[in-house]
Amino acid sequence: MTVSVTGATGFIGTRLVQRLHADNHNVCVLTRSKSKAETIFPVKNFPGIVIAEEAGWKDCIEGSNAVVNLAGMPISTRWSPEIKKEIKESRIRVTSKVVDLINSSPQGVRPTVLVSATAVGYYGTSETRVFDENSPSGNDYLAEVCREWEGTALKVDKDVRLALIRIGVVLGKDGGALAKMIPLFMMFAGGPLGSGQQWFSWIHLDDIVNLIYEALSNPSYKGVINGTAPNPVRLSEMCNQLGNVLGRPSWLPVPDFALKAVLGEGASVVLEGQKVVPAKAKELGFPFKYPYVKDALKSILS
Ligand code: NDP
Repeated sequence: MTVSVTGATGFIGTRLVQRLHADNHNVCVLTRSKSKAETIFPVKNFPGIVIAEEAGWKDCIEGSNAVVNLAGMPISTRWSPEIKKEIKESRIRVTSKVVDLINSSPQGVRPTVLVSATAVGYYGTSETRVFDENSPSGNDYLAEVCREWEGTALKVDKDVRLALIRIGVVLGKDGGALAKMIPLFMMFAGGPLGSGQQWFSWIHLDDIVNLIYEALSNPSYKGVINGTAPNPVRLSEMCNQLGNVLGRPSWLPVPDFALKAVLGEGASVVLEGQKVVPAKAKELGFPFKYPYVKDALKSILS
């Protein structure tokens, strides 16, 4: 299979490309910066990978069986009005380009699958409700971003199978929220972040990569699929487990202001969560490697 990937140089994309390459699939890395992509995927380790800046995306997409769309400006930054605009527009811009290129590809050589990222922020936040794929969208800024992002992907032609993966907080080594949380957590002796009552819908990096990978070839993976582990936890539980794995006592709460200093308003993703369950993935029999946060953290940090 030949797969084109936007956001391939990011936290999830890098691991996905490594996996596809290891399994002998052809990969086109669709990037804004060829030089950056070449550092991440050096030709000696990734022979045969095609790296294309925007002018080359058309040829890559036309020659692909499937496209994975992961690009977007990181949200864990300080949210000035300009940055909020770019958080949304970067996702719409890239998704729109990908969809246009797929729709205008000649029949017969066009990709038949689009796996496009979105986020659990779609549901808004709540300390009491449980969200599955049929739950309505929330009414905050991130929910609006996700709705428009998904709405853009939904413009892909109906004969292209679309899987929209609503991704939770991805836990992995050297990236994502965990890499930012750990130093802070260590500094404050490892207590809960904020009130601790917020829900934290997480997923191990291996599982989200496996889910995307499965969605590429399994025709049952279509429509919205929550990319979260089957056992979301309250943040206090997450911090407890993190404290155990790191060998830190967890008694002193990390103050909201400290988290916001590191994550900016993007801290809202951690400070105001939502309980999201992967109803569709379970129905599809997706084999989660890490259903429990304790095992996920152990595998990442030990
Ligand atoms: P990263 O931030 O690690 O990578 C995203 C990639 O998007 C970058 O490598 C970059 O690729 C591209 N990108 C960055 N800024 C822009 C921009 N302004 N315009 C266009 N492209 C840009 O993301 P992750 O791998 O962590 O996540 C992948 C997707 O999944 C993201 O869209 C994210 O919102 C979503 N998601 C991730 C979660 C997580 O916990 N990691 C949780 C929920 C959703 P390049 O420079 O090569 O163009």
